[in-house]
Amino acid sequence: MKKFADVILPLPLPKCFTYALPEDMAEGVQIGCRVIVPFGRKKFYTAIVYNIHYSTPEGYETKEVTTVLDSEPILLPLQFKFWEWLSSYYLCTQGDVYKAALPSGLKLESETIVEFNPDFEYAVPLSDREQTLISLLENKPEQTVSQLEKDSGLKNLLPIIKSLLDKEAIFVKEELKRNYQPKQEIRVRLNEIAKEEAYLHKLFTELERAPKQLALLMKYLELSHFLNGGNLKEVIKKELIKKADASPAAFNGLVEKKVFEVYRQEIGRLATAVQSTIEINPLNEYQLKAFQEIQTSFKKKNVCLLHGVTSSGKTEVYIHLIEKAIKAGKQVLYLLPEIALTTQITERLKRVFGNKLGIYHSKFSDAERVEIWRKQLGKEGYDIILGVRSSIFLPFHNLGLVIVDEEHENTYKQYDPAPRYHARNAAIVLASLYGAKTLLGTATPSIETYYNATTGKYGLVELNERYQDIQLPEILSVDIKELSRKKRMNGQFSPILLEHVRKTLEHKEQVILFQNRRGFAPMIECKTCGWVPKCKNCDVSLTYHKGINQLTCHYCGYTYQVPRSCPACESVELVNRGFGTEKVEDDIKAIFPEAKVARMDLDTTRTRTAYEKIIANFEQGKTDILIGTQMVSKGLDFDNVSVVGILNADTMLNYPDFRSYERAYQLMAQVSGRAGRKNKQGLVILQTKSIDHPIIHQVIANNYQQMYADQLAERQMFRYPPYYRLVYVYLKNRNADLLDIMARTMAERLSSIFGSRVLGPDNPPVARIQSLFIKKIIVKIECNASMEKARRLLLQVQKEMIEDERFKSLIVYYDVDPF
Ligand code: ADP
Ligand code: ZN
Ligand code: ZN
Repeated sequence: MKKFADVILPLPLPKCFTYALPEDMAEGVQIGCRVIVPFGRKKFYTAIVYNIHYSTPEGYETKEVTTVLDSEPILLPLQFKFWEWLSSYYLCTQGDVYKAALPSGLKLESETIVEFNPDFEYAVPLSDREQTLISLLENKPEQTVSQLEKDSGLKNLLPIIKSLLDKEAIFVKEELKRNYQPKQEIRVRLNEIAKEEAYLHKLFTELERAPKQLALLMKYLELSHFLNGGNLKEVIKKELIKKADASPAAFNGLVEKKVFEVYRQEIGRLATAVQSTIEINPLNEYQLKAFQEIQTSFKKKNVCLLHGVTSSGKTEVYIHLIEKAIKAGKQVLYLLPEIALTTQITERLKRVFGNKLGIYHSKFSDAERVEIWRKQLGKEGYDIILGVRSSIFLPFHNLGLVIVDEEHENTYKQYDPAPRYHARNAAIVLASLYGAKTLLGTATPSIETYYNATTGKYGLVELNERYQDIQLPEILSVDIKELSRKKRMNGQFSPILLEHVRKTLEHKEQVILFQNRRGFAPMIECKTCGWVPKCKNCDVSLTYHKGINQLTCHYCGYTYQVPRSCPACESVELVNRGFGTEKVEDDIKAIFPEAKVARMDLDTTRTRTAYEKIIANFEQGKTDILIGTQMVSKGLDFDNVSVVGILNADTMLNYPDFRSYERAYQLMAQVSGRAGRKNKQGLVILQTKSIDHPIIHQVIANNYQQMYADQLAERQMFRYPPYYRLVYVYLKNRNADLLDIMARTMAERLSSIFGSRVLGPDNPPVARIQSLFIKKIIVKIECNASMEKARRLLLQVQKEMIEDERFKSLIVYYDVDPF
């Protein structure tokens, strides 16, 4: 009987596609294996087998699976369940989830761009077909798979691409330049006979006629410490050639003369040499109490919130819980909101757990991520995975505990593209699929989480004592409206802030300046007529970047030259409006020219090492003043910071969103928590134009409870989470007028079902992106109502819309629980 496979394609298709399995493949393939299938006109994709069966699909001719890539599944059964939950809850397709979940190297398709690895050393023999592709790539190092198919005249290249990837002859192209490390190193040593002194002497004379080879040999002797006697040092071929400034030909000459011998050395990217670990710190009495309470709570509930002030030692409590889970033979997933944070926590966990710890995030090269994925599939998976939101997609065999650190952080929410998931909430579901427990930790819980913890859905454990009684900082608010009126501000700095910065520098202590914006000046503006440059694709003002002296669109990434004069009135007086971290950096350097200043924001932390450097320099006191966006607010632990400046609270308070007060409180409380040292109270200077704003008072008084009570009352009154679940329905079209009709029609249809729970259509803050116009409809659903039913109705309306002949070009997508 003929066998069929239902597969998930990496495309936003509403359901699985069915392919026939040729006889020779029918036996080997299992659910969870990858297969290559044709789709559309002449395109090939890597798909995942979701189901295998014997029932011939009706109504269309099935195509055949081209190749089976795996002999063992690369996806575990529970992961399929998790994907199903994600796609149904977040109203997207399994294809969307697939695209987000797997590293690029595991999901090749015709449009994948592959790149020649310049460090490829031909350590393994290549087949003819592989050699053909490599030659093409040597001429043009970056090409799509379909381009290579065309140029080589070969068909269905994906299996060959896969094998070249496995051999590390090529990469799949990634957006960011990553530091790739080869898995093997080619090293050189002297041939046994060449080690004889007499032989070497003879060689020196012989090589006088080949000075390049002689130079190479001398360099080798130097690098290997050969002449010093004692132990020889390993010499890497590439380094030797580079340091001797020699050619590969000269090198090969010496190999032919049997002077050099080449050998390969496994170096393994993941396992750095076995690490010696240290004992874990004993908990103090408060931490111990929290540790015990958490375990008691886990007996009854699946989720527990650890609400602990900054520097109470939450991380130490996590470490004890992790150790306990590992001893019980379980795996742990430790989620962090931000890559910047992994640096410090990695150090701390590595010291205790050594090689049991694996790290997973997007600043790792794709090859490394594929390697971790494979390791997790095997029996020797990591006991702990530390990672950012995408690590919820990794395979686990025996997950027992999930820790979501800084659970309130908005970076847990994926905004674009689909799946628009919230990693904290998804992690809770993931844990429950495994029968595992979830611990949420933070000093400033999100309103939703605190609500769940105080209404009994989650356990709640409080940790209110700071470790070693470090005092909470004193917070001084400064009225910059008044100071501006009196012309007493120095740019963005109040006199009192500058005075404290000066004192701090004198005492050789450190300062953090927090500005919740990036770029030099978010915009430029015509002083005469008020014209502001906007992106031609998107409906947003452009951001000015001084470093590259260009305007960029932060939505589509388009860059523009800075105009010399205003296109509207031809005035040449174009001025900077607003300010970002880059401007703060410039100004503070001008005021304190002797201070060492660093800046941490999205622009200065493009690479993995960039973060590590900024943080390490600050930890080691090589930097006096650290300027940053919200990145500096997140759980970093420094011990010589005596002053924190919040430059402008109003940009946070005025943000148009129902979460803006909650967020402003969290950001200010978190960044304040960075101030203070073992024996000295820290100081926070909070600059604001809204000195009487309740949130400012709550931050100063460290009164989370009041903030929570106020916000909760508002949420209830205006029907927001945690009482209501929000679903944003986005509609996109190229034609603005048509979109208008579409949006109104859809809103009417939704209203006929959901009544007053439907708001809009509205124009979102950015009403056009990449030449597509956007409308937004908000649907509010009572939290105790069936989401299942709501989803069905939403999708029903969407289907009716798109089946309408007039609305065929409509694009609809959803953001469930938007952030
Ligand atoms: P939190 O995560 O609650 O902000 P941390 O876990 O980062 O707090 O702890 C703050 C500092 O106190 C860290 O430098 C940590 O090493 C130290 N610390 C906390 N608890 C202990 C402990 N039990 N033993 C030793 N050091 C501790
Ligand atoms: Zn003008
Ligand atoms: Zn744009």
